[in-house]
Amino acid sequence: MASKGLSQKQLINELVLQEHLYRSLVEASPEAIIVSDMKWTIMMVNKQAMQLHGAKSSDEMVGKNVFEFVVAEDRARAKKNAERVLKQGKILNQRYKLLKKNAEAFPAEVSASLIVDAKGKPTSFIIIVHDITEREKAENALKESERKYRTLLKNIPQKIFYKSMNSTYIICNESYANDLNIKPEQIKGKTDYDFHPKKLADKYRKDDKRILRSGKGEEIEEGYVKNGREETVRTYKAPVRDERGRIIGIFGIFWDVTHLKKIEKNLELSNINLSKMNKRLREVALKDVQTGLYNHHYLAEIIEAHFARAKKYGTFLSLIMLDIDYFKSINDVYGHRFGDLVLKQFALYLKKVAPKYDTVVRFGGEEFIILSFGRDSAETLFLAHKILDDVNIKYFGNGTHSVKLKLSIGVSSYPQEGIINGTDLIDIADKIISKAKENGGNKVYASEDMKAATRADGEKNVANDRDFKMLSKRLEKLTKKSHESLVEAIFAFAKTIELKDHYTGEHVDKTVSTATDIAKALSLPKENIEHIRQAATLHDLGKIGISEKILLKKAKLTKKEFEIIKKHPQIAVDILRPIQVLHDIIPLIFYHHERWDGKGYPSGLKAGNIPIGARIIALADVYQALISDRPYRKAYPKRKVLQIIKDGRGSQFDPKIVDVFLKIIAARNSNG
Ligand code: GH3
Ligand code: MG
Ligand code: MG
Repeated sequence: MASKGLSQKQLINELVLQEHLYRSLVEASPEAIIVSDMKWTIMMVNKQAMQLHGAKSSDEMVGKNVFEFVVAEDRARAKKNAERVLKQGKILNQRYKLLKKNAEAFPAEVSASLIVDAKGKPTSFIIIVHDITEREKAENALKESERKYRTLLKNIPQKIFYKSMNSTYIICNESYANDLNIKPEQIKGKTDYDFHPKKLADKYRKDDKRILRSGKGEEIEEGYVKNGREETVRTYKAPVRDERGRIIGIFGIFWDVTHLKKIEKNLELSNINLSKMNKRLREVALKDVQTGLYNHHYLAEIIEAHFARAKKYGTFLSLIMLDIDYFKSINDVYGHRFGDLVLKQFALYLKKVAPKYDTVVRFGGEEFIILSFGRDSAETLFLAHKILDDVNIKYFGNGTHSVKLKLSIGVSSYPQEGIINGTDLIDIADKIISKAKENGGNKVYASEDMKAATRADGEKNVANDRDFKMLSKRLEKLTKKSHESLVEAIFAFAKTIELKDHYTGEHVDKTVSTATDIAKALSLPKENIEHIRQAATLHDLGKIGISEKILLKKAKLTKKEFEIIKKHPQIAVDILRPIQVLHDIIPLIFYHHERWDGKGYPSGLKAGNIPIGARIIALADVYQALISDRPYRKAYPKRKVLQIIKDGRGSQFDPKIVDVFLKIIAARNSNG
């Protein structure tokens, strides 16, 4: 502004004017301004500068060195910069901590310029101070949040990326970079084709395009190859928008769900297994485990449906109910396990004999039902009779025991008066069976037979032997009478056997008294002694079924003939089985030809496995036989008999019983 040709006065005026202008400017400035002389001594401060420092009047600052206002740590740097101002004319935006009047420090940005006069001579410095406390706070906050995000991105196991509009990567996190075997910063400018198999890259690109077009984020389950291993990942991709809402790129985060998928798959598999198991459980619930036939629950489930179908289509529905006669006695005589086996074999037989689409049901313990859809009453009766005939000649059992079965069978058929639902078929068959049982069992009855049945039924049991036939017949008639008279009849009949076997009339009585004497001497319970008495009485009942030709043969028996003789315990059991009150003695009769050493018949039982009553009867029977005349020999002398029995001690006979027996004989002799 100074120019040549101005007068001195003009020059002074000019200076004054400048000074004034300059002061006004400083004062009016919204910034804090300090003016110092060339030695950095403050000459002037404005209001903002005073405020910043906390000074009440300019006197508190003017005359002081500017460096006094800089914190000790920054002072050297400030002085250095001050020298540079002198050389360069100005230096801008230096950051220092400055001191307030109360010794508090605050961050400030400081710019300083050299002022020269009209002649170009430096006269003073002008210093502008800007309080940046707030800005620094904001900056620090930003830095902190950046640091947090950076840490988060660095440590998060999920893979994160940001791509431009054309699916070029801009940034990614450490986790994703690790997968790609690069450093995060190396992803910039790359695309999916640089890292992934083409097929996958194509898919990723297609998804990007769709999302950018729709502007909507998507969750996608997709393939991913990591170090050559195929994985499944779940990806969330969404468009990124600027402040004005325009889409500027695409953000993505994804994570490995291979393991989860496996768990899901396993879960699915176990669900399938579970429903299979449920099905099987249902089957089990509807089937009888023992025989594999359907059970009554199943019958209850289907019979009404079958009935409704028969009614609707005007066709037949027939039912055969079968109840095994005297089944309990099979358990009693041979044991429950054997009974189970017979039931199983019988079930198998029914399954085989029943036509393919019939339903075979185990209705109760030893009760079975065959349900035939579309089969009329005549055809069904025919099947029922075939079953009874089969079963009467078939043997059930195992190598040791075998039994023939007798059945009471009831047949009911729809259509028939009084049958209006499926359950009626069952109820009627049940009643018919009761009637068949009343009439001795081993019969097939249908509704028509119910009236006729009261009349005597033809004999089904054809025995070879005349006597056997006679006994069966009498037994059948006696079934209707009380047990007492039945038992009496049996015992009476047994007496006739000794005649058949050509014993003298007292053989049975003597056997009985020897056996009961032994039982008493062994102090057996009263009840057992009574059983032994009864069993001893009936022990040879089975001989009724054996031809007299063999029983009375004088010569030695052939092997075949002996085999026939050996059947008599079994025959006795078959005869006695129907009589409930005699069940306890059946084992004693059945096993009375067993030997202590296991070489007897029919079962080859050994020692203590033979019921004690049977062991006692065995000895009494042999003793009585040896002292009697037999068809093939004379009676042995008593001494010889006792010797034979002593010889059999521990082999044929229970040693303890032999000892007791010998004492009894000795006592009898001394009593005369
Ligand atoms: P009835 O001639 O009057 O039919 O006489 P029963 O003995 O055959 O019939 P009852 O109904 O009096 O007894 C049925 C018997 O069947 C009783 C039971 O011990 C036997 N039982 C039932 N279920 C089973 C089984 O699963 N196994 C065996 N071993 N026996 C069974
Ligand atoms: Mg029964
Ligand atoms: Mg029965």
